[in-house]
Amino acid sequence: MYELKFNEKACFTCPTVDCLVKCQYMQFDRDRAHVEIMKVVRGEDSPVLEQCVTCYACEEYCPRGNHPFYLISERREEKGMLTAPRPITNQWINMAEPQGKFMFGDIKDKAMSCCFIPELGEMGKGALFEEIAASFALGAEFMCPAVYLHFAKTSVIKERLPKVIERFARFNVSEVLCLHDECYGTYTSIAPAYGMEVPFKPIHYMEYLYEKLIQLQDRIKPLGIKAVYQRPCSSRFCPDKHHYVKDICELIGVQLLDREYQDGNALCCGDILKMVAGYEVYKDVRERNVKDMVSSGANYCIFNCPFCQFSLSEKVSKGGLKPIHMVELCKMAIGEREMEVQ
Ligand code: SF4
Ligand code: SF4
Repeated sequence: MYELKFNEKACFTCPTVDCLVKCQYMQFDRDRAHVEIMKVVRGEDSPVLEQCVTCYACEEYCPRGNHPFYLISERREEKGMLTAPRPITNQWINMAEPQGKFMFGDIKDKAMSCCFIPELGEMGKGALFEEIAASFALGAEFMCPAVYLHFAKTSVIKERLPKVIERFARFNVSEVLCLHDECYGTYTSIAPAYGMEVPFKPIHYMEYLYEKLIQLQDRIKPLGIKAVYQRPCSSRFCPDKHHYVKDICELIGVQLLDREYQDGNALCCGDILKMVAGYEVYKDVRERNVKDMVSSGANYCIFNCPFCQFSLSEKVSKGGLKPIHMVELCKMAIGEREMEVQ
């Protein structure tokens, strides 16, 4: 059985306890934060296990490369603490149960993972994906199971993730382009945290897009729009790729506007919060987030995760911003997609 590699000594001697001090959903000073994280480390009861809303952010906040959020999820499961009502938890587990209904194309040395999101299959076409579009894989069998962290079901991750990795390995691929940010974070953060070997190189789609746009630079027509960015929870697993949002925007003539809830201070789309933290937290987070976007003066909201886009599009549109996925924005910049009328 795979086990979380967690450096308990690193917490014991931690000078900052940033994991909990920076948490946007609990208020602890440094000393209290240290007491509480050590309780979690020792497997004792702590308000952290009751109140964590599963935003993933402490995975980024920890300056020592430890895995506080994975540990919280482990401890909750050990204690039988469900974060959401049991029928909802079971529905999520059953919904993505591999049932042999996957699809894959002509898989070559480099594969393109569309996770369990059919929209990504459509998105991964056109000039930006010319050499790799036919080499796609889509379905529950290729889905990163990171979402079960939200439901304190790391056992599902430990059971399913090795099989997903094995399915890609059977194709003998050297690289897997991850169109879902969360897949990339799963292979580069969760898998090593649990000692799972990944025998291919995961590629983050924004890094891929940036390099592709450099190659297609003569086709780029600067978009001249003002935008804000909705950072997804999964981006906390791979903060080293976050700079590509700004890099791509600069390359395609998008002015990325500053706002309060960005970078380390980003708020998630809120959809999961409805299930694990209740309606009031969900409503508050979404309202603050969209108000912040609207007051920035942007006319577009760029999404990374399709689920954030499903969840927030209507609210963002009502605020006068056009929701658009990063891939579609890049397609607009090379003239493959019509500019939307302002
Ligand atoms: S998880 Fe990281 S930030 Fe938190 S106490 Fe441990 S080492 Fe420090
Ligand atoms: S996952 Fe989010 S809510 Fe939970 S402890 Fe970490 S930062 Fe706080």
